[in-house]
Amino acid sequence: MEKPLACPKCHSTSLLKWGLGASGRQKYRCALCRRQFVAGSDHFLEPEKKAVVMRLLEAGVEPAKIREAIPDISLRWVYELRRRLKRDRQG
Ligand SMILES: [Zn+2]
Repeated sequence: MEKPLACPKCHSTSLLKWGLGASGRQKYRCALCRRQFVAGSDHFLEPEKKAVVMRLLEAGVEPAKIREAIPDISLRWVYELRRRLKRDRQG
């Protein structure tokens, strides 16, 4: 199920097509905040934000708490990161 496309930063739906991303997916640019992003990348997150989430996960913070602290990330994504973290530790 495809969600209506919106800017991951400001959630505006005023988007401009902005060429193709490295993976061949349609890129968009937000007309409001000018943030560029690739369509359908639910898991897209800035590296800084990912680093923060990883630190919190490593400290044992529950995904729901992390989601409260950083509202514009998806809870599913936090769980996914935690799964990866556990897997890496086991390996
Ligand atoms: Zn925006």
